[in-house]
Amino acid sequence: MNKSVNSNQKTADFIIIGGGIAGAAAGYELSKIGKVIILEKENLPGYHSTSRSSAIFQKSYHHGDPLLNILVCASEDFLMNPPDDFTSYPLLSPRPLMYIVPNGKRSKLEALQKDLIKINIDSHYIDHAEVKKLLPILDQNYQDNVLLEQDAADIDVNALHQGYLNHIKAHDGEIITNAEVMDLKRLRNQWHLKTKVGEFIAPIVVNAAGAWVDEVARHANITPINIEPLRRTVIMVTLPKTLCPDHWPLVMDIDKGYYFKPDSGKILMTPGDSHLSPPLDAQPEEIDIAYGAHYLENATTLTVDKINHSWAGLRNYVKDGYPVVGFDPEQDGFFWLAGQGGFGIKTAPAMGRISAALIKDGKLPQDILGLGLTEDQISINRLKPKVPAYKTTS
Ligand SMILES: Cc1cc2nc3c(=O)[nH]c(=O)nc-3n(C[C@H](O)[C@H](O)[C@H](O)COP(=O)(O)OP(=O)(O)OC[C@H]3O[C@@H](n4cnc5c(N)ncnc54)[C@H](O)[C@@H]3O)c2cc1C
Repeated sequence: MNKSVNSNQKTADFIIIGGGIAGAAAGYELSKIGKVIILEKENLPGYHSTSRSSAIFQKSYHHGDPLLNILVCASEDFLMNPPDDFTSYPLLSPRPLMYIVPNGKRSKLEALQKDLIKINIDSHYIDHAEVKKLLPILDQNYQDNVLLEQDAADIDVNALHQGYLNHIKAHDGEIITNAEVMDLKRLRNQWHLKTKVGEFIAPIVVNAAGAWVDEVARHANITPINIEPLRRTVIMVTLPKTLCPDHWPLVMDIDKGYYFKPDSGKILMTPGDSHLSPPLDAQPEEIDIAYGAHYLENATTLTVDKINHSWAGLRNYVKDGYPVVGFDPEQDGFFWLAGQGGFGIKTAPAMGRISAALIKDGKLPQDILGLGLTEDQISINRLKPKVPAYKTTS
């Protein structure tokens, strides 16, 4: 089944379009049951959203959204205890999360805490002395309103991504770069994918093309899901040599939506911007960089003298903000793995397992069902217009 048909054709059991974290996680799980080929249009898998994230693991993501909480919780065990041969680096490094608001906005923190209680996340207010100990640079205007969530963490995104890709290669799989899929056709129960480096054939195709998932669907003559890529900016701020930020917490302002955390002796800061964009190689804009610096100066005693570097990436959403995982109803063998927004790294292990289980068994893994996720919450069918029921007239 997997032999090459001619020198320009390769076959596999599963072809994955896109070598970011989503395609890599699905490929990791699928390579346990068949041959996987990942086709990536750039010369580096991970070039787009995956290498541009803030690398945060947070169970309270999106104000404690219950569905996203399930996906994060279902990923936690893998991230904390990956298989022995997966990586030699810890995938998670603890970093407590401080939620802050300025004076006069405490009701926002109280509302957040109520939402966190609903999904069993422990958080508590801390006093000035503890604030000073944890984050000596926090501005006075914020020190009365600090809610601490203890079990957030940094994710080693590169170790996770490379762990997945290495496992695929070690199990007869291939990661082929500079291989943009430009055409897909279904012929005799097989998908035929055309790229500049040859033709690839498999019964099942996984569309994990990030901001480009609709473009890929159009190549296959399949109705798109109206993905909305939203650009977000990150700046890296150089600190005075006298400061040692490594143990400072992650700080999120739930009034304005910006957040910052230490990263390699600097501060990683995002103004929390969200600008609708076409799918492209996203670049930061001056105005968003300036907002980042402004918010950091406002929330802390720091003066931003030097921005070491900055970047932007796309967070890709469908209209309800939840991922799209499952087979397309229009065409056999076309599987969507899309819409991971700002949570695609921390949920990658669960999304990979869900993808493989739906492809292999047609149902969700038992443990994830047990956490309360249902297939219709992530299925593409929820995005399709409902056909009105036929009404009889008397
Ligand atoms: C600023 C920012 C901060 C973030 N912070 C976090 C965070 O703290 N925690 C978290 O969990 N998530 C975070 N995210 C979200 C996370 O980065 C994304 O959800 C995740 O990377 C999406 O992975 P992906 O594989 O779907 O997309 P991508 O990494 O974009 O991969 C898709 C790949 O498909 C390829 N491709 C497209 N078209 C084709 C084609 N026709 N043929 C072949 N290949 C194709 C692209 O080149 C690309 O490499 C953040 C995102 C941004 C932008």
